Amino acid sequence: NSESEQNKNITLDDIFIGVKTTRYNQKSRLPVILKTWFQLAKNQTWFFTDIDNPLHQNQTNGHMVDTKCSPLHERQHLCCKTAVEYDHFINSGKKWFCHFDDDNYVNVPRLVEELRKYDPMRPWYLGRTSVFNPMLYPENETESGEVFWFATFGAGMCMSRSLALQILPVTGGGRFISICNKLRYPDDVTMGYIVGRYGKVGLTVVPQFHSHYEELRFLPADSLREQLSLSYELQNRKGRNVLDVPGFNTVYDPTRFMSLHCFLFPNEKFCPR
Ligand code: UDP
Ligand code: MN
Repeated sequence: NSESEQNKNITLDDIFIGVKTTRYNQKSRLPVILKTWFQLAKNQTWFFTDIDNPLHQNQTNGHMVDTKCSPLHERQHLCCKTAVEYDHFINSGKKWFCHFDDDNYVNVPRLVEELRKYDPMRPWYLGRTSVFNPMLYPENETESGEVFWFATFGAGMCMSRSLALQILPVTGGGRFISICNKLRYPDDVTMGYIVGRYGKVGLTVVPQFHSHYEELRFLPADSLREQLSLSYELQNRKGRNVLDVPGFNTVYDPTRFMSLHCFLFPNEKFCPR
């Protein structure tokens, strides 16, 4: 109907983009984001970190949120940040909640275009799985347990306001942390459980979300325009996992995000002409 057609006419301003980060990544991961895709979504993007840093507050026009969560890479602290992020989205009044990690590149215009396909007045949970089988909680309860899929936060996830409001009674006001602690799952798995149990919708897989769990060099350069999110990993067991995109040399641009940004948006100031 025409009302739901209208709801699909969203703009960037209808989207809340939350990025989870930490004081330990301030120098290694934040700068390349601030130079690239953040510039295309300055007013819509918020960083959730564990420190108050005047330099970054200045660079982001006050969009760094000190969650007061502990900076440790442990389940309960990551859940703490996600809980704060979710509450900020609810308070923002926006139609879409998208989460990314601080090693994601967000293709901003593509994200807007993608979300136009879905009506935010209906529940939607969009993302990409990182497991081959659905989760079961409690693990051994094949008869009575909750079966669910989760969107991996490392690839990015979006949920409509309608879905976010359905899960508000169990997720809002920090209640997310309690569920996370009870289940002993990471934050993204916990979110999948909550959506499966309390939301009225399952995960819609959108394969254009990407994490560094994939071999990123196998993504063809001419497909990059279509992707919603990308990632990198500079050090893993096999060396580095980065996009194969033409552009700057790897000393100047180890993550390949500067090159990617120029590939997608050649008119940006720092791009060669
Ligand atoms: N992170 C955090 N605190 C930490 C370590 C990581 O908030 O102590 C965040 C980090 O900023 C990123 C996400 O958690 O957004 C995932 O971290 P990372 O990419 O280092 O690990 P992965 O889960 O991809 O192996
Ligand atoms: Mn990562």
